Amino acid sequence: MPKSYMVGNWKMNQTLSEIEDFFSKLKLTSNQNNFWIAPQAVHISTCINLAMKAGVLIGAQNCSANEFGAYTGESAIDSLTELGCHFSIIGHSERRSLYGESNEDINKKVLACIKKGLVPILCIGETLSQRENGETKDVVLFQLEQGLKDVELNNESELIIAYEPVWAIGTGKSASSAQAEEVHQQIRRLLNDKFGATGDEISILYGGSVKPTNVEELLSMPNVNGGLVGGASLKADSFVALCNACSK
Ligand code: PEP
Repeated sequence: MPKSYMVGNWKMNQTLSEIEDFFSKLKLTSNQNNFWIAPQAVHISTCINLAMKAGVLIGAQNCSANEFGAYTGESAIDSLTELGCHFSIIGHSERRSLYGESNEDINKKVLACIKKGLVPILCIGETLSQRENGETKDVVLFQLEQGLKDVELNNESELIIAYEPVWAIGTGKSASSAQAEEVHQQIRRLLNDKFGATGDEISILYGGSVKPTNVEELLSMPNVNGGLVGGASLKADSFVALCNACSK
């Protein structure tokens, strides 16, 4: 059985006082190192200190595929791991659409993360027009194949996949559990073809308007192994509800 994760993507949100308030209210009943949060890069250190007491692991929303050097504005993987980051979101649809990240860029980041022991959460997903044109499977599996080019794994915990239909991100309109499961099954087949039995154990998260009211239904699907959550991860009570659902 793949491990279940609840991962908060805070995007470019949360002030320092909101972060302190969040962690002061965060009371998690069960925890197996599977509740994760990705704050803004400038808040990573603060969050690592506050999250340790709460038992939450902290990661980045993005990282550079390059070693240290002349890359203004970027974050080196070695610097993120030195701070205590556990993972990095890679290829979020906002990175793809707003910052022009290609599948090739994303693949380089995935390879660099695995090499350096930072767990990449590789995000893939179709746009609304691609879904309406019946292209979902082709788009998602192409992004997955390209993102995983030359990737070799020692074990399943080195990689997480997040299926995030672009039309569901931040819109309040989640995929149905059946729509999510259909795509997660296609992803699972490709992971099995590529990694054999290890591919059956890789966690596949669903992201796109997950909230306390729909999380249980989504997580009841056999191949939905957790959530990558934006808006509903920003408030402690809502994040706790999501984590509780993930522990059932
Ligand atoms: C996301 O940012 O990855 C996301 C899924 O956002 P939201 O939960 O707000 O749709």
